[in-house]
Order: sequence, then structure tokens, then C-alpha cells
Amino acid sequence: MADLRGLPSIERLLQDPRAAALLLEFGRPLTLDGMRSVLDSARQDAKIDAPIPDIDEILNRVTDWLHAATQTTLLPLINATGVILHTNLGRAPLSTAAMEAVQRVAATYSSLEFNLETGKRGSREVHAEALLTQLTGAEAALVVNNNAAAVLLALSALAKRRSVVISRTQLVEIGGGFRVPEVMKQSGAHLVEVGTTNRVHLRDYVTALEESSPALVMHAHSSNFRLIGFTSEPALKSIIDAVHEHAVPFLDDNGSGALLDTAAFGLSHEPTVQESLAAGADLVCFSGDKLLGGPQAGILIGKAALIQKLKKHPLARAVRADKLCLAALSETLLHYLKDGAVEKIPVWQMISASPDDIRRRAQRWKNTLGFGRLMEGQSTVGGGSLPEETLPTTILALDGYQPNQLLARLRCNNPPVIARVEENCVVFDPRTVLPDQDEALLDSIISVTQRNKS
Ligand SMILES: *Cc1c(COP(=O)(O)O)cnc(C)c1O
Repeated sequence: MADLRGLPSIERLLQDPRAAALLLEFGRPLTLDGMRSVLDSARQDAKIDAPIPDIDEILNRVTDWLHAATQTTLLPLINATGVILHTNLGRAPLSTAAMEAVQRVAATYSSLEFNLETGKRGSREVHAEALLTQLTGAEAALVVNNNAAAVLLALSALAKRRSVVISRTQLVEIGGGFRVPEVMKQSGAHLVEVGTTNRVHLRDYVTALEESSPALVMHAHSSNFRLIGFTSEPALKSIIDAVHEHAVPFLDDNGSGALLDTAAFGLSHEPTVQESLAAGADLVCFSGDKLLGGPQAGILIGKAALIQKLKKHPLARAVRADKLCLAALSETLLHYLKDGAVEKIPVWQMISASPDDIRRRAQRWKNTLGFGRLMEGQSTVGGGSLPEETLPTTILALDGYQPNQLLARLRCNNPPVIARVEENCVVFDPRTVLPDQDEALLDSIISVTQRNKS
């Protein structure tokens, strides 16, 4: 066994000038933990006759240990997958204005719940509500933590221990464990299923309305799932008219929060929030970070009396939105109000990017790299909207690499780059790479391919 007396003591390490810098950067308790841990491992290694490291080497290891221990795991990255609303990658990136609004309220006090006119307590609910009602024409609005919370709150406040009618065509699992029937159960509402998996008729709704006197009829966007073939669903307006004849409120879970028509961009038509309201829905709920293009949030709009019930329910407090969310959401909504959503909101910039612009960008990437091959490809919207729908794109493909190895190296890069594999090649889609990330992306590709040519 190597001679352990060669190992420096903690005291000796602390006297080294390099230790002062570590103490300053990482604080005393963590630095001491690091030193103990590195010395312990060196002692263990010595038992299997590893050489005793000198003080310089020990301090190198302590520095590495401290960097590893203080490495955060929520990292910004480059999404080159071409999936615009990638739930695993944080869905919608914020617009510059939304991000600046977050910055403005984050590091100081704000008028979150303070009425500047009266000098008295105010309500956090007013900030986005005014914009939402102006934008959609709804009587009232409420913002909560996410759309799952919005559905849970609506069902709990309006239908606890009572029946909620929903079509079997909509009893879907949306991903991330959001299952419509389970959320219903959690809220204490009783599910009354109508129709069959593939078909539901107006008379199914009418029978349920007559037989079960429900507290609510719910409609849920089937999200990332599409019914094809022998299917049928009545028009939303005809269901809502029948529901209203029975004086029952109607909740539409719109899901993606589309305020603009996706059909204007070569996609199929995604039901919009305005259409739900126009069809007569009493409450419409949707996510803030899907097609709306804002922060994570659940937005409920509709009849003032119903929104008021939701606001007063104890769950509302548990699922309320925080000030950073409200700041980003208000600014995102302003883009729509000022008719600038397509130009200013990253999600819509990506959806509306022209095939020519994308091709030119891919070509620039290729020219800068001096290698790679351009291919026709398909981007997708993702985020539970527009399943099976694609947008034509041009992708940069790298030939001659083992794809999984290259993907892994790209993920380890700083910033990590997430790409995808097509025809056994790693490919990069310009559509989802933010304009100011080009240089970082190309640097990463250069650095990983230099080590990885096979
Ligand atoms: C995405 C989605 C949800 C869940 O929304 P979150 O904001 O992720 O909580 C609920 N309902 C529908 C129809 C959805 O598409």
C-alpha cells in the first residue's frame, strides 16, 4: 500500500493560495466537504496501490468536485429537432418583450396585489384578466398554474359530487399523465360517458342531459390524438345549444390556446379559443405555453358568474399563477392585442417561417461548416396540437457518423444541442433554432465532429 503520509492534510490544503479562491467562490462548508471527499477517495485508491497525488493534483480534483456539486441541471439548450412545442424541452420560448417583463418584476417589488390608485390591497387576478377579456370578448378570466389545474379547478368548483357529461371520443390521455377521466375523479365529479370511442351523436348528449341532470357538460380537445375513419362528432355549436336548453353550463378544454388560425400557415385548422366562445361555451380553458406562445399557465375565460365561483374556490389559491408568469403572460397577450403575434412570438415566428428562408439558413450553416448535406424534411408543431401535421423544411444532415454517439456528444455540449435522426443520419432543423443560436450551434457541431469522425 502506498504511503498515506504523503497525502496533505486539510489544514495544508487550506494554506495553499488556490484554496483562497475556492473558498471565495464556493464558500467554506462546501469547499471543506470537497476536500474531505477528495482525500477520502485518494485514501481508498491508495489501498489498491494507486500513487499518492500531490497537492496540485488534489486541488485540481477538489475544483472539479466543487464544479460538479454546484452544477445546476435546468440548462438552456438548442432545440434543432424541428418540434416547435417540445414539451420535454420546455414548450414555448418567450418573446423578447415577455422575457424583459419577467426581468422587470423579478428582482424588485411589484404591484402584484396592490392597487396603486387606492393604496390598498389589490388582486393579482386583474393583470392578465383585462387583456384576456379585451382580446377574446369573454366576460371574465382567471389564470392558474397550468391547464391541468384549470380543468381540475373548474370541475371541483362547478361539479363536485355531481355529474359531468363527456363524450367517449374525448376520454384521452394527453401525455405527462394528464388523463381526462382521472382529473374528473380527482375533482370529485362523476363521469357520465356518452357515445362510443369513435362516434358520438347529438341525441347521446340529449339523453344524458335528460337522464342525469349534470352540473356541467365538458368537451376536451383530443390533443395529440386523432380519430379517423368511421367517426362522427356533432358540431360544437349544436352540442352547446342542446346543453343550454337544459340550462347546464358548458366547459370546453381547448388545450393549445390557439388565438390565430393555423390554417393560414399551411396547417390544418386548429380550433381557436374565439371559436369556442362564439359557439357559446360558458367556460374555455387552455395552456399558456402551447400555441399561445407564453409562459406555463392555465387560462380560463368565460361567464363572469362561473369565473367568480372558480376564484372563490379554495383550490384557486393552491393553483394560482406567480408574478413572473403573469408578467410574461401579459406581455404575450399584448402581442396579440397589437396584431404583432406572428412577428414577435417565437412559436408563431417558427410556424410562419417561409420554406425559402429556412432553406437559406440551412445553406448558410452548410457553407460555414464546409460539410453536411441539405435534405428536404418535415417540422412538427407538437405540444398536443395538430397531430400528424407537418411543415416542410430543409434540414442539415451529417453523413458518416454513428448517429447515437453523435447525438450523445451534442447533448454533452455547452449549451447542449438536441437533434434528431433521419435515414440513419443526425439532422438539424433550422426552424426551431432561435436566430441568435446559430453561432453556438455551429461551434458545437464543429467541436463534436472533430472528435467523432468514424
Ligand atoms: C395540454 C393539454 C392539457 C394539459 O395542459 P397543461 O398546461 O400541460 O397542464 C389539458 N387538456 C388538453 C386538451 C391539452 O391539450
